Amino acid sequence: MNEIEREQRFGAHNYSPLPVVLSHGKGVWVWDVEGNRYLDMMSAYSAVSHGHAHPRLVAALTAQAQRLAVVSRAFYTDRLGAFLERLCDLTTLGGALPMNTGAEAVETAIKAARRWGYSVKRIPAGKAEIIVADGNFHGRTTTIVGFSSEPAYRADFGPFAPGFVRVPFGDIDALRAAITPNTCAVLFETIQGEGGIVVPPEGFLRGLRALCTEQNVLMLLDEIQSGLGRTGRWFAYQHEGIVPDGVMLGKALGGGLLPVSAFVARRDIIDLFEPGSHGSTFGGNALAATVALEALDVMADEDLPGRSAEMGEYLLSRLHAIHSPLIREVRGRGLWAGIEIDPARADAHDLSMRMLRRRVLAKETRSTVLRLAPPLVIERAEIDMCISALKAVLAEAESEAESQA
Ligand SMILES: *Cc1c(COP(=O)(O)O)cnc(C)c1O
Repeated sequence: MNEIEREQRFGAHNYSPLPVVLSHGKGVWVWDVEGNRYLDMMSAYSAVSHGHAHPRLVAALTAQAQRLAVVSRAFYTDRLGAFLERLCDLTTLGGALPMNTGAEAVETAIKAARRWGYSVKRIPAGKAEIIVADGNFHGRTTTIVGFSSEPAYRADFGPFAPGFVRVPFGDIDALRAAITPNTCAVLFETIQGEGGIVVPPEGFLRGLRALCTEQNVLMLLDEIQSGLGRTGRWFAYQHEGIVPDGVMLGKALGGGLLPVSAFVARRDIIDLFEPGSHGSTFGGNALAATVALEALDVMADEDLPGRSAEMGEYLLSRLHAIHSPLIREVRGRGLWAGIEIDPARADAHDLSMRMLRRRVLAKETRSTVLRLAPPLVIERAEIDMCISALKAVLAEAESEAESQA
């Protein structure tokens, strides 16, 4: 039995991985068990923004693992406070609640929003509503998939929690019309990731900020994928110079080594949690706090948001310069690009497979978008390699489609 067969035989089939068995990684590169090297243009959906096995992060992880890792939040540690303080400094918000996975940070935001709705806005018991977007992705808990618009995420997992209203993404008028006296919050990704790298129209975030303030509704942004340098700023909402009432972080926060997430919000929102109201055995543990703080320090010291802006501009300009009938549109910001493929001419999954054969790891999101989201430490020459592979793959797919027609 090889590794693929073993995983298939003993595991659940909730993923369909590309057929490559990886064994180690360094920076933007990963190697398979046969020693072949691949360019990682996906970086685990932004979890590996620092690159694989960043030496400073591995050193911080190793040293802290030998000192103290998990004691639960029943006790204070000498590691957590500095991490929370840094999150507040970076966001200019007043408090942070650490969790592990992204979905848990989103669940925390939902709890905070509802509490605020009842205790501050005085919404009648059980009536609080949260407005979310079509095409959203916020994780996989039953509450979260309950307000997804993607049938594959929901099928046969109901009944779902009520209290969510969906509107088109990036449409301020639809949003205004959906707000009622029972609306406690708007929960959006700043740029939709799994939905296909969907950038809202210029001015949308400023409009959203003004509308939420005017209507007394919390503005909560999920920056789990878009945050921490991915779009060329620390947070994608900074492109429009606004500050939300609460933000969810995850993925890159763990430095590519551990699951670390957080809900960071205004102090009065964070203060709605009293002892016993919420928690997590592993959330904010000393090892996670150490690695996450080091991940934020590395991000600042290496100016990864600045690199993302510069290299992202280069990546997007090279993508826009590709003229292929298979491409309908190229979208993106920073080192985050979505290439919309014409489904009548090619299949994004097939293109991922072809990229794999050329030793570039990329994966489609939804069925029509090829996503490129490399580690933020990528160099120009490596972007060039990716572009050459992509051009070759597009040409190959186009000529095969023609010969079949
Ligand atoms: C990945 C993701 C999540 C969920 O994070 P997990 O760590 O997989 O639970 C939530 N929101 C967004 C925008 C994401 O991209």
